[in-house]
Amino acid sequence: MRFDDTVTRRLRRGLLDRGMTLATLLAEAMSGRSGVDERRLTALGVGGKPGMTLREKLRWALDRVESRRRLLDARDDAYGRCEVCHADLGELALGEMPWADRCRNHPD
Ligand SMILES: [Zn+2]
Repeated sequence: MRFDDTVTRRLRRGLLDRGMTLATLLAEAMSGRSGVDERRLTALGVGGKPGMTLREKLRWALDRVESRRRLLDARDDAYGRCEVCHADLGELALGEMPWADRCRNHPD
C-alpha cells in the first residue's frame, strides 16, 4: 500500500462523501420531482457516455466510486492509478478527488 493509515482514512472518507452525494442525487432523480439536471452533474464533474440519461450517469458515477472504495479497502495497488496506463495519480490529486480513476492523458 502506497498510503499511510491517516491518508487512507481521509481518502476513504472522501469516497464515502462522494458516494453519499451521488446516491442522494440519484434518489432525487428517481423521485421524478427533483432539480437534478445536466448542469448540476457537470458542476459535480459527473460525466457519462453519450445517450445516457441523468439517472444512468449518476448510477455509473456511483458504481465507479464504489469500485474505487473497494480497491482502497482491499489495499489494492490499483487504487489511485489510471485505469488505462496505471500511472500513479499522486496523493495531491487524490486528495482533491479520491474517486479519480483516470490520468489527464486518458479522460473518459
Ligand atoms: Zn492514463
